[in-house]
Amino acid sequence: MSRTAAAVPVVLSALLAVTLTACGGVDGTPGGPGVRDPYFPKAGNGGYDVRHYALDLSYEPAARHLAGTAEITARAGQDLSAFDLDLSGLDVERVEVQGRPARFSRNGQELIVRPHDELDAGETFRTVVHYSGTPRTITDPDGSEEGWLRTAGGGALALGEPTGSMAWFPGNHHPSDKAAYDITVSVPEGTEVVSNGELAGRRTAGGRTAFHWSTAEPMATYLATLAIGDYTLHRSTVRTAAGHDLPVLSAVVPSETGPAGKAMARLPEIVRWGEDTFGPYPFSSTGVIVAGEGDAGYALETQYRPVFPGAPDTGLLVHELAHQWFGDSVTPGSWRDMWLNEGFATYAEWLWEEEHGGDSAQETFDALYDHGEDEYEDLWSFPPAEPPGAAHISDEPVYSRGAMVLHKIRQTVGDKAFRDLVRGWTAKHRHGNADTEDFTSYVERTAPDEDFTPVWRDWLYGEGKPEHP
Ligand code: ZN
Repeated sequence: MSRTAAAVPVVLSALLAVTLTACGGVDGTPGGPGVRDPYFPKAGNGGYDVRHYALDLSYEPAARHLAGTAEITARAGQDLSAFDLDLSGLDVERVEVQGRPARFSRNGQELIVRPHDELDAGETFRTVVHYSGTPRTITDPDGSEEGWLRTAGGGALALGEPTGSMAWFPGNHHPSDKAAYDITVSVPEGTEVVSNGELAGRRTAGGRTAFHWSTAEPMATYLATLAIGDYTLHRSTVRTAAGHDLPVLSAVVPSETGPAGKAMARLPEIVRWGEDTFGPYPFSSTGVIVAGEGDAGYALETQYRPVFPGAPDTGLLVHELAHQWFGDSVTPGSWRDMWLNEGFATYAEWLWEEEHGGDSAQETFDALYDHGEDEYEDLWSFPPAEPPGAAHISDEPVYSRGAMVLHKIRQTVGDKAFRDLVRGWTAKHRHGNADTEDFTSYVERTAPDEDFTPVWRDWLYGEGKPEHP
């Protein structure tokens, strides 16, 4: 060891001594009020990572009153003097951290919690929020409604993309923080509660039934759902490619019984096709939730079982089931990466058509290129990877032009390599997060002999209609 090198540890330990005295467990700083999402800067919170949500709720459909506790187990990423949760509306009665009452305040969607004892970096800690009230419906920047929706049948439907889940439980509401869930909801006897994962228990006592739903795999908060009302449950299984029986649990409102039956009959075939095309089905169960036609303005890929307002046709069923791989298992790093969800789910529809006697993906691509603007006025209005604002993250360029990017990659590498590339992508980021740069660098590493520059430049990031199809 040279003399200069030997001097370094001395300087380092002097620095460390200063730092240690400064921290000493009493000088933690507050976690951030957001995670700098380019479209929803207040969504999510800095300084910790949620591992598990245990929601223990009770709902009165007639009074539209929700009450209960959220027990949030998280790991501190830094010394924390305070941290935020996201919660929109509702009344917070009490907050405890590590079993001790904590001070808290509210500022818009931020619930700011100041624990009695500071939390140390690396510490796993438990926060319990006692809350109640009538959950609100949130209007998205694009005008659509999410959060807590009242249904025609007198029940409720909770939909969370992009920020609606903060209307019914406090949490770290950003796709980058995935966690496991145990959701228990008690309702008047005779009402059903359907959610994500498996129905781990159902108990009736004193005129009320408590449903306990449990997820085995990590889930982003925007994919959590509750469907409360008059549903009929249907159970079956699908034999997976790996040869095991995947439980199917679907829920259907009475008015959709007939058409939903047809959709449910297609589901096994679509799941198996998805496994062939995208790789092993990522979750421990599947199914659909078919709500009433007017109960929501759109379908949503809620994890394990997507929600549909009315029975879906095959294309929509393919789209929402494809999201189980793209969006739910491989989740965007931020809302900027929305095209990775919607481009893949749209391309899944094209591929399904191609392989089931319809137009080839090339024909779909060509028709869009030649006169897509007749059908979708905004098709060329912005590049898929750069929506011009939060109001545009679910616009057509994110969907159709996102799918066109994938088709350009397929043209570049060929059919066989494209298939391997897609399966490799879902395997690499299974149950994780990935952003656009992760994707482009993955594609480049997978096919090092190809030049993707024009695809990224013209199709992914380029303004206007690319000059060549
Ligand atoms: Zn979609």
